Amino acid sequence: MSGLFEGKVAVVTGGASGIGLASARALLEEGAQVVLVDRDAAALEALTAELGEACIAQRTDLLDAESCAAMVPEILAKTGRIDILHCNAGSYIGGALTDTTPEAIERMIGLNVTAVMKNVHAVIPHMAERGSGDIMVTCSVAGHTAVGPEPVYSGSKWAITSFVQTMRRQLMKDGIRVGQVSPGPVDSALLSDWEPERLAKLKEDGALMEASAVAEAVVFALSRPRTVTIRDVVILPSNFDI
Ligand code: NAD
Repeated sequence: MSGLFEGKVAVVTGGASGIGLASARALLEEGAQVVLVDRDAAALEALTAELGEACIAQRTDLLDAESCAAMVPEILAKTGRIDILHCNAGSYIGGALTDTTPEAIERMIGLNVTAVMKNVHAVIPHMAERGSGDIMVTCSVAGHTAVGPEPVYSGSKWAITSFVQTMRRQLMKDGIRVGQVSPGPVDSALLSDWEPERLAKLKEDGALMEASAVAEAVVFALSRPRTVTIRDVVILPSNFDI
């Protein structure tokens, strides 16, 4: 540990699994106090026991309007400050639009887009008052290219890319940096619906990354001097073809 984030409070949504958990572990290793936000109460309980007292749990269902609105105020009541907000929670739907239900579309946009906007909306006054803060959003390479077979997911991530870029320009005057990390395929529970053969082939071809690789990119971006902003870290498995 080199203490890059000593004294800072970092909030990671979707922190109980995959990229969020890897990001939380990396931030803890660098000395931050970390708030794991997730709807999975059992996983939160197990993880806070494992990760120690620098890690606290915030049980929030980001698709529930009341629970989502309470997230930032409840965290501030516990920690007094938020230096880093990593909006990472997200879900995935593959397949053609006509294979997807309207309800599933609504849930995915609700989590991947609306909840991110609400979380950023809620944290801005606190960060602006202090004249400092970092917001990092987990986007996806699907938010940059339309070549994948997943129009709803891709649409949600393009929306978030444009939101992040607009907020980056608007919040720089307040000392708040806004950036995103855009990974290619990561070996996590998010892809559990993919056919096992497709996942096995990606693994065999070296076209699937570990979540820790994304977490390292997040730490790199957040640890730049405050005179520097990294707008987007696109991180791909070396054999992933887009
Ligand atoms: P994951 O499924 O491993 O983790 C997602 C976490 O979010 C889980 O802990 C889950 O409980 C939590 N969550 C889900 N719905 C929630 C809700 N309503 N309220 C609160 N928490 C909720 O997924 P992951 O792969 O770590 O994905 C994290 C982010 O990375 C997502 O935004 C995803 O789109 C993005 N991403 C993933 C990949 C990939 O291949 N896995 C690639 C690019 C981008």
